[in-house]
Amino acid sequence: MKNVLVRYGELTLKGGNRRQFITKLIQNIKFRMKPYNDKVELIKDNNSCMIKVEDDYLDRLLADLQTVFGIYSLSVVETTSWDFEEITKKVLAMAIESAKEAKTFKLEVKRKDKAYPMTSTEMKQKLAPVVLQNTDLKVDVHNPDLKIEVVVKKDHVDIFHSRIKALKGLPVGVSGRGLSLLSGGIDSPVASFLTMKRGMSVDFVHFMTPPHTSPEALNKVFALAKQVAKYNYQTFNLYVVDFGKMLQELNHIPNQTYKITIMRRMFMRIANRIAKRDHQQALITGESLGQVASQTIESMSVINETSKLPILRPVLTNDKEDIIKISKRINTYDISILPFDDVCSMFVPENPVTKPRPWIAEEQEEAIMWEPILDWTVENEVKKFVFHEGEFVEDTNWSKEIEKEEQNPEQATE
Ligand code: ATP
Ligand code: MG
Repeated sequence: MKNVLVRYGELTLKGGNRRQFITKLIQNIKFRMKPYNDKVELIKDNNSCMIKVEDDYLDRLLADLQTVFGIYSLSVVETTSWDFEEITKKVLAMAIESAKEAKTFKLEVKRKDKAYPMTSTEMKQKLAPVVLQNTDLKVDVHNPDLKIEVVVKKDHVDIFHSRIKALKGLPVGVSGRGLSLLSGGIDSPVASFLTMKRGMSVDFVHFMTPPHTSPEALNKVFALAKQVAKYNYQTFNLYVVDFGKMLQELNHIPNQTYKITIMRRMFMRIANRIAKRDHQQALITGESLGQVASQTIESMSVINETSKLPILRPVLTNDKEDIIKISKRINTYDISILPFDDVCSMFVPENPVTKPRPWIAEEQEEAIMWEPILDWTVENEVKKFVFHEGEFVEDTNWSKEIEKEEQNPEQATE
């Protein structure tokens, strides 16, 4: 058996919400460990928890814990009783074990329980010579190769030599739910990931226009949502909207330089309708200020006008290079760069307007029949997929749900 100490980060600062945050974090950790539930045991403490794990499952557990937001750092620890002789033995064993790679060491002792009969300085003064006499390690207090930490707690002592940095952030689920507009590109999966980092559970919506967009383009979207699923809430939904009819209608707007702008406004209107039914509290996009002609502040304002819900743009201020870096870290990059075009990249007019005016956008919309098409699209062209145990399963009751809601609005289920 190995012991993994899981430290909570920011959570400890959050006053009244703290208990709720920790409860959610523990739930999320337990959910991640579910496939090997019988190999682990979780023991709660105040600002941390300890997970006992069978040796063979240690690496898998460590990898899984590094996908859970709200965890600050991890250590594989040796635990002992307060017995000083036992502590000495374990410290020395750890030093000998690590002395193969390290030349210098530093010892750090902390007493979380001051009732321990020795001070931390006394403990250090007794422990360090044992290491020096029995290994080739030298002391280096500034830049040691090996740092052994001894933490005296209420009923036991933790000894460990490394802190594995985890994701930090807040446990997913404590900041409500958002609906992310997921294209097949690089930016929107990163935006979704960053939203999860602040504790928001993320559902997805994708707009496609078959036959202009290929099945491979849609597969990419499923693959991306799956790839970030390990950071996301336990279960979530992906909506796929066939935007074909609306796109045809957009060919009739008089000023074609507004096509992308109007398309985005339609995306937002449809996303708002879905979010209203599925109770998301915000929309999320991968827009970055100035990244392309359609991502100016003027464009964003004209798009915002069509959304009741706040539109979160987590990568707004990031350079493309930074976004790519994150996408590589979360393994979405290789999927995103697969060469299948989505709606936006295929229908960019020659000179998209960079500073759209709201009244001109409205004029364009007045010239076409968008409202009935929008209703039609929401009622007939939306498919809902639920992510469950690693796979997406289509929820075919979705259309029935809509009928029910419309016939008996006051009975609409939560
Ligand atoms: P991305 O890399 O996320 O595709 P991008 O730089 O290609 O972003 P655009 O194509 O201009 O940017 O799209 C801006 C944002 O609009 C996307 O980040 C995404 O949130 C949303 N979006 C664009 N196309 C679609 C689509 N087909 N379905 C859902 N959302 C989309
Ligand atoms: Mg795109």
